[in-house]
This record gives sequence, structure tokens and C-alpha cells, in this order.
Amino acid sequence: MLAAMAAAPTGDEQLNEDPTVLALLGRSADLLGQEAAVFLPTGTMCNQISLLVHCRPGDEIVAGFNTHIHGSEGAGAAALAGALIYPVPTATGIFTAADVAAAARPLRQRSPRTRVVAIEQTTNRGGGRVWPLEMLQAVSAEARKRGFAVHMDGARLMNAVIASGVPAADYGRLCDSVWLDFTKGLACPVGAVLAGSKDFIAEAWFWKHRLGGAMRQAGVLAAAALHALDNHVERLAEDHVNARLFGSLATMVPGVAIDPPEVETNIVFLDVTGTGLAAIAINEALKRRGVRLNVEGPHRLRAVTHRDVTRAGIEEAGASLAAVVAELAGQPQPLR
Ligand SMILES: *Cc1c(COP(=O)(O)O)cnc(C)c1O
Repeated sequence: MLAAMAAAPTGDEQLNEDPTVLALLGRSADLLGQEAAVFLPTGTMCNQISLLVHCRPGDEIVAGFNTHIHGSEGAGAAALAGALIYPVPTATGIFTAADVAAAARPLRQRSPRTRVVAIEQTTNRGGGRVWPLEMLQAVSAEARKRGFAVHMDGARLMNAVIASGVPAADYGRLCDSVWLDFTKGLACPVGAVLAGSKDFIAEAWFWKHRLGGAMRQAGVLAAAALHALDNHVERLAEDHVNARLFGSLATMVPGVAIDPPEVETNIVFLDVTGTGLAAIAINEALKRRGVRLNVEGPHRLRAVTHRDVTRAGIEEAGASLAAVVAELAGQPQPLR
């Protein structure tokens, strides 16, 4: 990847003259089933720019309550677009056309105006689940029938593609804006690509400039992304195998369960309630052994696999989890 970055021909990205960025954009628009695309530094900026284009202040976005847009972007929808989020109560991150119908506001002066339905593929805090194509088709049809835009946060879209065998464009075509992160499982240092209609991307460019996301010789970053599309997509299957292995090793530890019980992609949630230990205590002890998880609740931890986590590392992490739970058992544990 570093060699590809060093060898990349570059130009001024702000002027749309960087040949490597342009190559990435053409490829990404095709990949995502859209007319056009724009290169951005982060996935968060893809989400925020999409909401800025789709919404006016006072509009409302329908999204799962545990999504990145709702809980992990500093309330950007409110702070930047001036939009509300209607949080759909769904533990899995997946919801139905009936949920969209129930969330849709009647068009009247005193109500927020429903404008966007946002979905995450895969669902991060829903447990790395894949939105089944038929469910996305139904949600998209319901939203479009009502005149709402469909937005896909595709931070881990390629994980969904590898797990399901459904081409990215089949998901992407159901959306009015869709993006892909190169910095998650695709293992690039920087970069994400946002795709949509030509008109949508033209509007997105205004916000890219306003927010300081227009770059110069960004071809060095686009070269990393192209390298990842060539070399890091098929191998996501290994991350899924490793995640399943970690899930099965974890459930062999007394008091540890995984929730959801089925590991679909590269994310595993541990429910450590049965150990009587606080997630934070387990996490601190694991960190001392070089195993890094996220604390997601008093008894909930998240593990994510990626290109730099090997099968041997997974086996070691499983053994560390067993050792840590045994070691901490019986010691008094503060909850926070
Ligand atoms: C990581 C992530 C983002 C944000 O991407 P960044 O590139 O870190 O800004 C958005 N949505 C989901 C589901 C994510 O996991």
C-alpha cells in the first residue's frame, strides 16, 4: 500500500484534477451503483455532508437508535444540518418498512418534516449484522414512495458484500446517497468515498469545500484506497472467520455470552453479565495483556477483527479472556 501511495500520479483535488482520485471516483461510483462520487477524509464527513444536502433545519432523519449518525457524531445532524433524528428502537440496527411508515410524520406545519431514512450496512452496534437485500428493498420502496431520501452509512459495506454475496451496487442502487469507508476493514490510513446522483454530488462538493474537506494531492490517499479495493476486499472473509472463532472461544468462558449469538461479519459483542464482573474491569485487565476491546455498557464489550488481527492473535485473545475472568472472579468490582 505504501509503495502504491508513493508511486501515485497526483494533481489538485480541489480542482478535480487529481488523476488517482478521479480513477478512484469512477471505480467507486460503479461499485456503489451510482452516477458520481466524491472523495472525503472520513466516514463521519460522508454522513454529515449527506445530511446537509438532504435536509433543511427542522427536518427529521429516521435512523436506528444505536447508529453512528445518532450517537457517535457529536450530534452533528443537529449541530450542522439543524435536523432531528427519529430514533427507531431496534437492537439489531435493522428495521422494517412498517417502522418507516410508523416514523413518517404527517405533513403539517407543526411537525418536523421527515426527509431521510438512514441505514447502516453492516450495523455496527447492532452486532455487525447485514441488512438483508429484501428488507432494504422494502424500506427503500416505502421511503421513496413517501418522498424521503434513502441514505446508507456503508462504513462496513464491503463486509456485508463478502458475507452475503450480494454486489455492493445492488445495495447502493436502493439508496440516494451511499458511502464506503476505506479505514475500517479495508485498512487504509485515511479516506472514504460518498456516491450518489450527479446532482447530489455537485451539492456535496459545496459542503466539502465549506467544511474544509477539499484537498490537494489527495492521490496518495486514493492510491491506498485503490490498493485496498484490489487487495483487501476478498480477505474480509478471514476477518469474519476470526470473529466467529473469537465468539466461540468467548462463549467457552464461564459467564460470558455473545449477543447477538450469531457472528455475521467482523464484530462480536460480549455480554459478561454472567461473570458478575464489570465490563470495564475485564477491559482494563485485557488491555494489560495487549488485547484491546471497547466497553459498550456496564456488562457489554465489543470486539472487532481486521487485517492486523491474526488467527494466532484471536487464540491468544480468547485465552486472555478466560485467564482474566478467572483471575478477577471473587475480587470485589466497582461498576464504573
Ligand atoms: C466508523 C464509522 C463511521 C465513521 O467513520 P470515520 O471514518 O471514522 O469517520 C460511521 N458509521 C459507522 C457505522 C462506523 O462504524
